[in-house]
Amino acid sequence: MENFICIQCGTQFGETAQAPSSCPICEDERQFVLRAGQEWTTLDRLARDHDNRIADEAPQLLGIGTEPEFAIGQRALLLQSPGGNLLWDCVSLLDEETFAEVRVRGGIRAIAVSHPHFYSSMVAWADRFDAQIFLHAADREWVMRKSPRIQFWEGTALPLWDDLTLINCRGHFEGGTVLHWPRGANCKGALLTGDIITVVSDRRYVSFMRSYPNLIPLGPTAIRRIIESIEPFSFEQIYGGWWQANVLADAKTVVMRSAERYVRAISVQVPGNDSSIEF
Ligand SMILES: [Zn+2]
Ligand SMILES: [Zn+2]
Repeated sequence: MENFICIQCGTQFGETAQAPSSCPICEDERQFVLRAGQEWTTLDRLARDHDNRIADEAPQLLGIGTEPEFAIGQRALLLQSPGGNLLWDCVSLLDEETFAEVRVRGGIRAIAVSHPHFYSSMVAWADRFDAQIFLHAADREWVMRKSPRIQFWEGTALPLWDDLTLINCRGHFEGGTVLHWPRGANCKGALLTGDIITVVSDRRYVSFMRSYPNLIPLGPTAIRRIIESIEPFSFEQIYGGWWQANVLADAKTVVMRSAERYVRAISVQVPGNDSSIEF
């Protein structure tokens, strides 16, 4: 029996004797199946020719990303907090070096994942570190490896320890979640967003999509909902889903400005009508 891992999205599946016939996450309209067809690996095989790069993204925020790049190529973040460390998002590879590096920093109290594209090997990580996993209940159907460690939460926000808060923004996925870290950015606050709010090449902006690889935009209602869900929280910085995909100053203004531009871009222009939308 093996826990197979989809090589396109990096998701680890529950134990089976044979590789699964397909990956529902890659068959979904937000992802895609490789031209060569569905392929699988395992944690052992992945560890043979991949390593994790472990480097600070900010004080108390350790990036963990796989090299050479694997699946979607995200880097996870180990948020080191007095009440216990939180692993934000996850990667498929967990090897002995990574285990040792994380353990020296105090291990993992819980794992929280922004959305199903980054579920990766979260159950393997949780088992190894004896950690809990927090996932939004709206994405329950996308969990491919079940575990009693997974705690599904509902509603718009879930307070954790040390004033950390999980916020359900929806958007890219119904359960799309970001993490508010009030001690981040020298206590001015930071958001960890995965690609629920995506930091784009021009760091003065972020963006929001239903599908990034297939370029499916979100509508104005979804954008407004994202804005409303983060509005009550103060933050100066955003840490996105990839290495250095971060907004380091004035991040809340950046999100507001980006949402306004986005809604303007997808709006039907009526001559003589002011199409700008107030948030
Ligand atoms: Zn997949
Ligand atoms: Zn995604």
